[in-house]
Amino acid sequence: MIVKPYKNKINRIRSFALSLIFIGVVIMYAGIFFRSNEIVMLIFMFLGVLAIIASTIVYAWIGSLSTKAAQIICPNCGKQTKMLGRVDMCGHCREPLTLDPSLEGKEFDESYNRRSKTNKQAKSETK
Ligand SMILES: [Zn+2]
Repeated sequence: MIVKPYKNKINRIRSFALSLIFIGVVIMYAGIFFRSNEIVMLIFMFLGVLAIIASTIVYAWIGSLSTKAAQIICPNCGKQTKMLGRVDMCGHCREPLTLDPSLEGKEFDESYNRRSKTNKQAKSETK
């Protein structure tokens, strides 16, 4: 199987949120080692809670993102997937997908999502 370097954006954000929970738990766990110093322990606990709160915010953000994301059927594996931006990956097989027909067939590049860069490219092409 060919290793595809890019991941579906929604999946990527979701794994980021998940890792935030782990980081929060690890920080709180680290706080136990400082239980002799109450203030340091409280700081660790606070940071841990903060990371977990941040993760719930990210989860809520994914929720609002996925309602806005375009739902399409992946042409490669036939499963339904959601995509963000102009180019994204299939969440199941990581097939590059695009909503922009002008980019179809082109080699996948994450920079297509940055509007300013593609505008510059379009300008230089017309010259
Ligand atoms: Zn697919």
